[in-house]
Amino acid sequence: MSPKFLMLSAICRLIATVGLTLITPNETEVQLSFNRTDIQSVSLDFGKTTVHSPPAAVLHPSSAADVARLVKLAYESPQGFAVSARGRGHSINGQSQAANGVVVQMSGSRGRPPLAVVSDKLMYVDVWGGELWIDVLKSTLRYGLAPKSWTDYLYLSVGGTISNAGISGQAFNQGPQISNVHEVDVVTGKGELVTCAEDKNSELFHAVMGGLGQFGIITRARIALEPSPQRVRWIRVLYSNFSGFTHDQEYLISLHGQPSSQKFDYVEGFVIVDEGLINNWRSSFFSPSNPINISSVSSDSNVLYCLEITKNYYHHSIPESLDQEVEALLKKLHYIPTSVFTTDVPYVDFLDRVHRAELKLRSKGLWDVPHPWLNLFVPKSTIAQFDKGVFKGILGNKTSGPILIYPMNKNKWDEETSVVTPDEDVFYLVALLRSALQDGEEALTLERLSDENRQILNFCKEQKIGIKQYLPHYTTQEEWMDHYGEKWPKISKRKLEFDPRHILATGQRIFEPSF
Ligand code: FAD
Repeated sequence: MSPKFLMLSAICRLIATVGLTLITPNETEVQLSFNRTDIQSVSLDFGKTTVHSPPAAVLHPSSAADVARLVKLAYESPQGFAVSARGRGHSINGQSQAANGVVVQMSGSRGRPPLAVVSDKLMYVDVWGGELWIDVLKSTLRYGLAPKSWTDYLYLSVGGTISNAGISGQAFNQGPQISNVHEVDVVTGKGELVTCAEDKNSELFHAVMGGLGQFGIITRARIALEPSPQRVRWIRVLYSNFSGFTHDQEYLISLHGQPSSQKFDYVEGFVIVDEGLINNWRSSFFSPSNPINISSVSSDSNVLYCLEITKNYYHHSIPESLDQEVEALLKKLHYIPTSVFTTDVPYVDFLDRVHRAELKLRSKGLWDVPHPWLNLFVPKSTIAQFDKGVFKGILGNKTSGPILIYPMNKNKWDEETSVVTPDEDVFYLVALLRSALQDGEEALTLERLSDENRQILNFCKEQKIGIKQYLPHYTTQEEWMDHYGEKWPKISKRKLEFDPRHILATGQRIFEPSF
């Protein structure tokens, strides 16, 4: 009998024994769906690369108990089958897919899962694991509160980002999102629903933080909040010199322990190699009232670096003090003096900035294209070598998407979690956020960009740059063992304890399923 047939029969038993409702194309009150459109919609992801592994069914859960019943059946049935949680499927390489198994559609589920509950006294919000960050923000703003640590884009699920880490320009100061989660409810690979925190079932808590979906499905997360700022002073300055740029970025993140008046709230940056909408999709900032003619800024290498910083403020802030604080910080930096671009926007508009770029790209048919993205953590000690070999070497003068670069402080990351970062106090995120296009004279095709990614990874290996992939993608266990390094024994022990049949998140291709 084929694995698919065995799987289908296991799922039919599930419907018969535990009563998850079967969806047919015209039904509305539904949970477990065999509908072809549903299956197709979870068989692809944002990466739109070549990975396409359809599941046999899609679960639209109404509660953590629904998720637990499904996983328990997969665990207890003699055949077993894969179960993967899916947030928005904004992975690149099929990480939320479950070949021939069941995808649990956590975000936008028709099952109507629980709503967010805010505790304004204790400054946290409890949210469903599939909740999008944009909706978390909307819920907390009603109380004048907001989460502290973000991703650049808010249409991602809470469970999806904390299964990776969740980073943006606040991470140097607040830590990644996983450093701002108090508690989670998790359905383990045995189908048990467990509440865990730093001081309660802590091994499971640490396992699922940055756990790539390997140890459990997060059905609820308790997220730390702070009083929400109302507005943001948003500044960009340019550098033609890489060492000046990284010196200033590292100086700014070293201020993390200072009072808020003496540091910025957000520090990011990007590399400018070429112009054009695709490359500058996050640069609407510069235009139209604030245009920048990049070619007018002299640089010996055709590469410019843009530091992006913000200062949050409140209704009650005194404008003159804010100006003085910003001025005092800018004075310490070494950017090109004529290159200061400043704007002032509502806090929510700043946080939701990438969505506006998304709408623009969608209107031009440039969003639903293949995205061979590569995200790397690069140690501080080798970032200059990386600049020389990659930004000024392998990439040439066409990059087909923004390149982010910003440093973070390792002491804001909890070593007990499952995420891996370079072994240095400061490391950079380098994000090559590329879109493959088939048209045009110099076609930046998926093949060409993927080949460049391989060249970059080879370069890092040969030159011993000491990178760790963020949002990692590997296809063999040997590569995964190398990725985890000293953490591998802990990761495999956690797998054995929390998902012994290797049912969960098989799309990550870390552990071979046992069925
Ligand atoms: P999915 O792709 O659906 O899932 C990712 C993995 O997590 C899968 O293995 C899945 O099985 C698992 N998973 C999903 N939900 C759960 C759950 N509830 N419990 C357990 N496991 C689960 N990342 C950043 O850190 N910072 C950024 O600034 C950032 N910007 C981005 C901008 C864009 C436009 C895009 C497309 C991605 C960005 N990302 C960023 C990456 C993003 O964090 C990851 O792709 C994340 O996995 C996406 O969340 P998702 O909800 O779509 O997860």
